[in-house]
Amino acid sequence: MKRRSVIVIGAGIAGLGAAAHLARCGIDVTVVEKNQRAGGRCDRFTRGGHVFDTGPTLLIMPRVYEAEFAALGADLHRVLELHSVDPTYHLVFDDGRRMTLTSDMQHMQRQMEDIQPGSFKGLQRYLDEGRRHYDVAMERLVNRDFRSASEFFSLRNLPLLHQLKPLQRHYANMRHYFDDPRLKAAFTFQDVYMGLSPFEAPATFSMMPYTELAHGAWYPRGGMYAVVRALVAIARRAGVRFMFNTEVREIPTRDSLARGVVLTNGRRLRADVVLANADLPYVFKDLLPEETRAAQLERKRFSCSVISFFWGVDRKYPALAPHTLFLADDYRENFDSIIRDLGLPGNPSLYVHAPGRLDPSMAPEDQDTLIAIVPVGHLSNNGDQDWESLRDEARRQVFRRLRLLGVRGLERHIKFEVSLNPLSWRKRYNLLKGSTHGLCHNLAQLGYLRPHNRHPRYRNLYFAGASTHPGTGVPTALISGRLAAQRIMDEWDA
Ligand SMILES: Cc1cc2nc3c(=O)[nH]c(=O)nc-3n(C[C@H](O)[C@H](O)[C@H](O)COP(=O)(O)OP(=O)(O)OC[C@H]3O[C@@H](n4cnc5c(N)ncnc54)[C@H](O)[C@@H]3O)c2cc1C
Repeated sequence: MKRRSVIVIGAGIAGLGAAAHLARCGIDVTVVEKNQRAGGRCDRFTRGGHVFDTGPTLLIMPRVYEAEFAALGADLHRVLELHSVDPTYHLVFDDGRRMTLTSDMQHMQRQMEDIQPGSFKGLQRYLDEGRRHYDVAMERLVNRDFRSASEFFSLRNLPLLHQLKPLQRHYANMRHYFDDPRLKAAFTFQDVYMGLSPFEAPATFSMMPYTELAHGAWYPRGGMYAVVRALVAIARRAGVRFMFNTEVREIPTRDSLARGVVLTNGRRLRADVVLANADLPYVFKDLLPEETRAAQLERKRFSCSVISFFWGVDRKYPALAPHTLFLADDYRENFDSIIRDLGLPGNPSLYVHAPGRLDPSMAPEDQDTLIAIVPVGHLSNNGDQDWESLRDEARRQVFRRLRLLGVRGLERHIKFEVSLNPLSWRKRYNLLKGSTHGLCHNLAQLGYLRPHNRHPRYRNLYFAGASTHPGTGVPTALISGRLAAQRIMDEWDA
């Protein structure tokens, strides 16, 4: 009997996970990836002994990784050597004050009381709420899919409106816990990972600072790309075939079915099912025939983008912690200029990563590998953004902020620079609008309201990845891949 077959478009995290699940069920799986290696946004390059993770740098929600690797028949702690990063972040405020986010609660207490007397009690209550949000949201919203509207808009889900505070804004909700704006910023900046401003994000997202403090942030030996390597090894062992440097041009359809894929070289590949891991709005716009749905998707809210700098540096900067965040005083104006004006704030909050602090193999001896990430707006429709001058301004801002930590003259020690901007993100991974996290996670784009893991018309076309359910981030992409694979198997058997 002929084996059932699936073509997966894209070797991103969700594509790799889904492919491995399906192959483990005996399906004949081929992954077609436009780039020369797997990983998608979880990418990597090496130059002169400097190793750069160009996408994710933080392994958070470790319990999700543990569960998802276990579902693939692997023990996370055998396939990856994970090291705890504690303190997770070193925060630097505009007034020069510093604060670390650490699971050492005594240290947190000292730092918080110093900023605002009485605030540590607020933190304890905030973390309690974060725990409730995390537990409930993971079980009821994230770790499952919604195949019909009635599963989502059900009486059973009504208590979630109270339990998860989805109708309250995250920043406004902080008034119950702290007064000091620096503390409010320290426990809401994580919303940017969802492509949202804390001024519009649901208060549900207090689950993110909670998981970072309670479950920790981790670093795999060899960097985040080690996660990709582990997934590729699992997929290959299960029998998945990979075609790299192979781009899909079209998903031909007839009636209510997808008929395989057509590659840019004109070759046609057939399969019973197509699973698109490439970013969903791009798939509708560029690979499928229907224009109306593509246009509807393009009008949805997209997350921001980033300008990233990758620097090989000829000396070490021990003052730099692994993850440093510079949080601007004009916190609200920061999000407004990124999300509303699609630009670069005058005084941007930004992030600097020094992986050599976590794993010496990431930089040559006595040298540093530095990554700076500056959030910016996604590509505008009229193409009026000047990315070269925005890049130069972003670089100036990074140097200015680093001087606050005593890092001076860095410019003279940079051996080489690689930088990425929204145009690069679009070109590298086919991300519509160069939006690094895909569709954002506002209330109108969550749960059943987020694009589903199956096409509404083509019954054998499925989706997995950041812009579909449940959303962005490496752990979430792993869940998305599993849910899509599960749905394929369920509907095949039905
Ligand atoms: C700068 C940055 C920092 C981040 N930091 C973190 C972090 O610290 N922690 C975290 O958990 N997450 C982080 N993320 C988010 C995380 O990287 C993503 O959510 C996740 O990797 C998305 O995986 P995916 O499977 O959805 O899709 P993708 O990574 O987009 O994979 C899709 C794949 O499809 C391929 N493709 C596209 N079109 C075609 C085509 N026509 N034919 C063939 N192949 C195609 C692409 O090349 C790509 O490989 C970060 C992302 C970025 C960009």
